[in-house]
Amino acid sequence: MKQEVPYKIYLNENEIPTQWYNVRADMKNKPAPLLNPGTGKPLTLEDLNPIFCEELNKQELDNDTRFFDIPEEIQNFYKMYRPAPLVRAYFLEKALGTPAKIYYKFEGNNTSGSHKLNSAIAQAYYAKKEGLKGVTTETGAGQWGTALSMACAYFDLDCKVYMVKCSYEQKPFRREVMRTYGANVTPSPSLTTNVGRKILSEHPDTTGSLGCAISEAVEVAVTNPGYRYVLGSVLNQVLLHQSIIGLETKAALDKYGIKADMIIGCAGGGSNLGGLIAPFMGEKLRGEADYQIIAVEPASCPSFTRGKYAYDFCDTGMICPLAKMYTLGSQFIPSANHAGGLRFHGMSPVMSQLYADGMFEARAVEQTAVFEAATQFARVEGILPAPESSHAIRVAIDEALKCKETGEEKTIVFGLTGTGYFDLYAYEQFNSKTMTDVIPSDELIKEYLDKLPKVPGQE
Ligand SMILES: *Cc1c(COP(=O)(O)O)cnc(C)c1O
Repeated sequence: MKQEVPYKIYLNENEIPTQWYNVRADMKNKPAPLLNPGTGKPLTLEDLNPIFCEELNKQELDNDTRFFDIPEEIQNFYKMYRPAPLVRAYFLEKALGTPAKIYYKFEGNNTSGSHKLNSAIAQAYYAKKEGLKGVTTETGAGQWGTALSMACAYFDLDCKVYMVKCSYEQKPFRREVMRTYGANVTPSPSLTTNVGRKILSEHPDTTGSLGCAISEAVEVAVTNPGYRYVLGSVLNQVLLHQSIIGLETKAALDKYGIKADMIIGCAGGGSNLGGLIAPFMGEKLRGEADYQIIAVEPASCPSFTRGKYAYDFCDTGMICPLAKMYTLGSQFIPSANHAGGLRFHGMSPVMSQLYADGMFEARAVEQTAVFEAATQFARVEGILPAPESSHAIRVAIDEALKCKETGEEKTIVFGLTGTGYFDLYAYEQFNSKTMTDVIPSDELIKEYLDKLPKVPGQE
């Protein structure tokens, strides 16, 4: 095999970025502010401080500072599992017979099995620095809860995780990893909160949703002194922390003089994609370079491709701030046979504004096609990918096959956000051919979108 670049491009430890990059600083149209659902007014630091950590709120509201120094304690923690390798997918290229050059940034080399640890450690650090006792959060597939448990163990903080009930039951081993790191894990909806009791009384058989778990975690944070709520995606601060993915990717490409043509990432709440593309999007926004960027989402939860760009609640219980985002409605829950993750009804406000401005495209893919790509990738590249990550693999393969037809030698970079060891129930469905593709009808989506909250000034 002719190798122009190594199979894995590793940065040296001293080349790991020491600042996060805030893409908002380069956006002409800034993301819409979070609104107070009671007053319809933009949230201020004073509104946010009782719910989230103060330093993180400053990051949340800062649309102008281009770079934030990464505190030394966080840099040290990053060294435990970073730099993440940028891998040239020589074996996949060969299997596809494509002239395209495919690279993937692998974020699965830590116990949480995903990129979520990049933001979890930052959020735990600021909570500890503020002198808090602990943090609360929700977790769906479980990666975020695991990452936060690891980060809280490191800084000796209490960690209360509300885990979507169907996931809690399907993935008992994820729960045990969290408990091993000292977290307290409760299936949601639960009887431990007012909002959980209300949801259970109205829907006794519900298997839960992310939106519902968020409502419970927020309630526990605001009613317990010394606790704050932390969120693993969607928020501006999370995208800021995840910029480490893109900064490392760009540094690794630059090291070998490689220019990406196309950058592909999966999109749930938009944090890994936002992080991966951050420095590239910055160049695009400043008119210095151009890239084709593709967000990939599940056809069963298609926020970008079939949602509406509007203010909506981030949670089912409708107690969280309103965010302007591509949304399917806060009451939307993907079909129960959807096993591929990326189940959140909305999308990061930063990514939503960039999408509304035509800065990238989005594609929705069906889960059986996603697991076909996952299997193909696992067999040649060796890594068992997370179902979420496999959405990006699907489109990377599709694009590489197009290059085979046209003979174009495009350079494709995609985000391989994590590993799938805890997703074997989903793999089992695929392998046993019981997996189906359920795509919501236009009527169903309209029904949820008709219930979007009325916000003054929004049609
Ligand atoms: C959480 C997660 C995602 C999706 O979340 P984003 O905020 O959209 O990045 C993707 N892949 C993995 C492995 C995850 O854990």
